[in-house]
Amino acid sequence: MQHIDEQYIVSNFESALEQGFVKAYYQPVIRTLTERICSVEALARWQDPVVGLLSPFLFINVLEKYHLIHKLDLAILDNICVTYNKMKELGLALHPFSINLSRLDFDEIDMLDAISKTLEKHNVPSTAIHIEITESVMLDNTAYFRRIFDSFHDAGFAIFMDDFGSGYSSLNVLKDYSFDVLKIDMRFLSDIGIRSKKILASVMNMAKAIGMHTLAEGVETKEQMTFLRNIGCEMLQGFYYAKPMDGDLYVKYLSDSKLGVEDPAENHYWNSVGQINFLSPDPLYDLTNEQLESGDYGFIRENSTPLALIEQTGKHVELLYCNEAYVKGLKRIGFNSVDDMISTINNTEAAYYPNMNEQVYTSIKTGQVIKEDHLINGIYFTYLTKCIAEGNGKVMLAASIQTYGGDVDKSTNDLFEKYSRMLIDTYDHISVIDPTNNIVITRLYSKLGFNDKYPEMPLDDAIKMFAENEVAEYDRERFIRSMEPSSLRDRMARSGRRFFQQPFHYKTKSGEYEIMDTKLIKVLMGENDVYIFSIETMSEQAHKAAELFVREHPEYFQF
Ligand code: C2E
Ligand code: MG
Ligand code: MG
Repeated sequence: MQHIDEQYIVSNFESALEQGFVKAYYQPVIRTLTERICSVEALARWQDPVVGLLSPFLFINVLEKYHLIHKLDLAILDNICVTYNKMKELGLALHPFSINLSRLDFDEIDMLDAISKTLEKHNVPSTAIHIEITESVMLDNTAYFRRIFDSFHDAGFAIFMDDFGSGYSSLNVLKDYSFDVLKIDMRFLSDIGIRSKKILASVMNMAKAIGMHTLAEGVETKEQMTFLRNIGCEMLQGFYYAKPMDGDLYVKYLSDSKLGVEDPAENHYWNSVGQINFLSPDPLYDLTNEQLESGDYGFIRENSTPLALIEQTGKHVELLYCNEAYVKGLKRIGFNSVDDMISTINNTEAAYYPNMNEQVYTSIKTGQVIKEDHLINGIYFTYLTKCIAEGNGKVMLAASIQTYGGDVDKSTNDLFEKYSRMLIDTYDHISVIDPTNNIVITRLYSKLGFNDKYPEMPLDDAIKMFAENEVAEYDRERFIRSMEPSSLRDRMARSGRRFFQQPFHYKTKSGEYEIMDTKLIKVLMGENDVYIFSIETMSEQAHKAAELFVREHPEYFQF
């Protein structure tokens, strides 16, 4: 590191300030889930015409020693205001800025008053400024600093604890002060080995438990980024995304960057999302501060719960996070991957979509955990959803999935199997057809003794022959029309339902014709939609009513 004479700094600092040699550099902060720029930190740089670029490490200590530090910090704030107003002029999104303060700032002057005056002068709101303070600052004189921070909070500033983990008494500091954001420097962890990972995960867990937001700085590698993302760290800052850059370059970077800037109106939305703890054994049921205060300690639960964060904008659905357990659950219900599920949900034609949709709307409406059973790809499962944030036309759902296959809950699955077979027994006939490929897939079950040849024929031929042999002449044409395979998909889509239902007269074993309820139900099997064709005997009353209606109102039975 270069050596600069203390005296050089002291005697040149104020003229350097005046000539604009000392200025703010900006390093963006990235929202982990979306990878958009959500704020920026201002870092002091001294570009000296004689000795070159000076890093803060060379002059901060000296300025502190000579009671000049507050001048630097206010000059940096002034710089921020100029950049802020330039961004405003250019119509760029106005994300917040962080400044670093020294403990000595508070000893020298009334810092809140000085900061407020600077902001007033430039017409910049206090909510646009975050204050970063290193934890070592607050080791002594707790009551004094608490008062100061309270007054900053009251004035609308957010306060970040900088360099968490670098000092000696971090836990005390956390207990004594209420910070908005915990800033963890990756460089304090000499490597990102198992121990470091465990420490980071625990810090994340703790921060969420006490309601603090999390930001990791000094993120340099993709590996670090991926790990931090997986443990639920909300924001990232470091060379992996961008180095600090001067004001002009930063404004240009904002306009050019592929990342894009988060809409500041969404700040509250993302703060709510950030509170979900990816590491919690039961994230949907995590206790709020109020519940903890009431002495409810039922929060220790077993097993990692499948968790996904799904964002819905209008009808479009996007997955922002899911853990391993969730992926496993999806595979159990027949999806190849998470992408597979999302594209299926976005395909509103999917047969089960309306059911899921209803569950989602109930979650949004009630804000409660909604738990419903579904059947997809022939597999029964329970889906849990909870709306965790809402705003700007978007909602964020936390979702979990319980499947009953394999080792998870064999007895529930066995019972389900047993009773669903009993349910099938209430039908007189069930077969499965695939109109896309023009085939009868199989005859599943039949009490009516229909000819075994149908599954061997092309579907359109089978329908005609079936109508000829099994359907009363009076109903034959209507039967053929409603079963017509090539138009089935479109007709079903137009109906807005997932099934057709009509009565037809079928030949029974005794040779007589009897009117029976008939359903053609669309189900999804992987990529294909197939249809279950079912025939069911009606009760005596329904039977009579159907006879009457089919004759007097044939227009009710056109599909
Ligand atoms: P800090 O607030 O923790 O700032 C983060 C430091 O890490 C910055 O160093 C930044 O350039 C550096 N950094 C960011 N990303 C990475 C990365 O991925 N890898 C590595 N190796 N480094 C990264 P910088 O700018 O030299 O500042 C050092 C410290 O000086 C700051 O630490 C802050 O405590 C203090 N400081 C900087 N500007 C000011 C200021 O205007 N006022 C006051 N009071 N202190 C300041
Ligand atoms: Mg900082
Ligand atoms: Mg730091």
